[in-house]
Amino acid sequence: MEISSLLRENIKNLVPYSTARSEFGETAEIYLDANENNYGTGQHRYPDPYQRRLKLVVSELKNVSVENIFVGHGSDEIIDLIIRAFCNPGKDSIICLDPSYGMYAVSAAINDVAVRTYPLDENFEFDVLELCQFFTNRDKVLFICNPNNPSGNVFKESEILSLITTFQGIVVIDEAYIDFSGQESFTGQLLAFPNLIILQTLSKSYGAASLRIGLGFMSAFLVDVLHKIKPPYNISGMTEEAAIQVLQNKNQYKRNIKRIIKGREWFSDFLLTLDFVESVYPSRANFILFKVNDAIGLYKYLLGSGVVVRDRSKIYQCQNCLRITIGTDEEMEQVKYLLRKFKSNNI
Ligand SMILES: *Cc1c(COP(=O)(O)O)cnc(C)c1O
Repeated sequence: MEISSLLRENIKNLVPYSTARSEFGETAEIYLDANENNYGTGQHRYPDPYQRRLKLVVSELKNVSVENIFVGHGSDEIIDLIIRAFCNPGKDSIICLDPSYGMYAVSAAINDVAVRTYPLDENFEFDVLELCQFFTNRDKVLFICNPNNPSGNVFKESEILSLITTFQGIVVIDEAYIDFSGQESFTGQLLAFPNLIILQTLSKSYGAASLRIGLGFMSAFLVDVLHKIKPPYNISGMTEEAAIQVLQNKNQYKRNIKRIIKGREWFSDFLLTLDFVESVYPSRANFILFKVNDAIGLYKYLLGSGVVVRDRSKIYQCQNCLRITIGTDEEMEQVKYLLRKFKSNNI
């Protein structure tokens, strides 16, 4: 498969905007090339359009070469850029599994790109042969969220590999929750598959959702494509600096992940003891999907007690399901107390 032939014609032929800072990549004594205000505020310089300092840190941490890293304004920006690079509006389609993360379909809809959804079974799994037969040559991007949101399960590595080798387009593996899963990232497979893009984010395991930093790992060719179509200065200078600091605080990162996984395990066990809970889906992420006898009733009760969870009860295969993020131990103890009280009120 020739990746460049998958690109939209207008993207293939695009002459990108050339910023002052990308035309002059070296250092100078006096910068008079970008119409900045040199009296200064401490924030008067345009940031690096390619986030080179941040990428060096990411490269070392994730064991991926700098030329295989793209930094987005959240993963959500990268999802949008991928759809815009490969899908002709009104003609092409993407494939999403259902249920999965909602932004793939929304981004496609914004771009007038059709969404073809493949329904997962009641255990949130797919039949790999059936899914491969579902592909058509109008499908340009296949999104696999692993671990999956909102179900929390992981797919089999061998089956994901079959999808990557069979699909005649770009396969995006969204690893927003990989650090909670104990699974290896697919980044080790990057060099083998030119149609593979892996997404990670600072929003979940790194505890920095406010920064809006998404990481895309892909071939150098694909990094160049996304660089051409992104807004020139998509990451602010302050954000890049803050992201470097977050990534370098490895102790905080490890401690938090450990605590959240522990919280996930005890809270899952606790949910199983409640008689209004019908199932607790095994989670490899930092949230738990669980089925109750009356999701809306429980949702409203928790809301009335100051706790907001995610109502997923209207989503495919998620009837009467709520999704709860694993918060701090203190927060989860409070929810435990409230759920016990709900139980006794319901008898
Ligand atoms: C939360 C989440 C993201 C994160 O998106 P950002 O834009 O990086 O905050 C990406 N994918 C999935 C599946 C998520 O649940």
